Amino acid sequence: MRTRFAPSPTGPLHLGHAYSAILAHDMALRDGGDFILRIEDIDQSRARPEWEEMIYDDLRWLGLSWENPVLRQSDRLPIYRDTLTSLWQSDALFACTCNRRDILAAASAPNEGEPATGPDGIVYPGTCRAHRSDHGLRPFPDNAAIRLDMARATTHPVTFQESGYGPNRETGLITAMPHELVTDIGDVVLARRDMGTSYHQSVVLDDAEQGITHVIRGEDLFEATKIHVVLQRLLGLPTPVYHHHRLIRDAAGKRLAKRDDARAIRTYRDDGASPEDIRRMVGLA
Ligand code: GLU
Repeated sequence: MRTRFAPSPTGPLHLGHAYSAILAHDMALRDGGDFILRIEDIDQSRARPEWEEMIYDDLRWLGLSWENPVLRQSDRLPIYRDTLTSLWQSDALFACTCNRRDILAAASAPNEGEPATGPDGIVYPGTCRAHRSDHGLRPFPDNAAIRLDMARATTHPVTFQESGYGPNRETGLITAMPHELVTDIGDVVLARRDMGTSYHQSVVLDDAEQGITHVIRGEDLFEATKIHVVLQRLLGLPTPVYHHHRLIRDAAGKRLAKRDDARAIRTYRDDGASPEDIRRMVGLA
């Protein structure tokens, strides 16, 4: 078993991260397997070296250890670009020049009702897909986002094994039909204009590169997993087992966010908590 914890260094780790990291660590170790830490820093406008340092420090303090060297996504941008180039040769991608306002306007057309939302927000209304041209041998444009044409990418149902639970108690063999993927998720962005990649593309490539057998993460990513399986099929990559877990919430029942410094592991440390106290607080003592 190889599990991973894949934080983005954009703020302090909080109790929710501690829960995810300890769970992934303990599951691997119980099985005699490996636990991997990966730094998901493709959003260079938000990632900071000091947050990355704090991640290492907090996780070490919690008693976790991991394989070195740690993979950092910002070191893999050329690989993400090569993958995008090869997908671009197929007809599963198209370039998109819409901004947020264009998308909202097109998705809220009169008589259309409330715009549908999926894992990435409003389901893309298809504006630029309608104007797509055959790619031929042209490289993909740098000044546009690159989207997955979900209808072309999925002609068969996709399946994965869920060993935890989705937000509606989904577990076991999960199946998503092509029409659901098109209407509920749609043409997601595979490469952002400013990044040359996206969370979806990078996470799929890196889980495969690192031989991750069990992806343990919050249930908020359950729907996004369907996108990840579509990409694994397109790229000929294996699909790991997924284990989605509950989210740690604050007293008001709201999920914790990076900005909730009150729940930061660092704050508890400063207040004199021990690693065992943190384990107890998240129910993993
Ligand atoms: N980097 C993502 C985050 O910090 C986690 C991605 C994942 O576990 O697949 O939310």
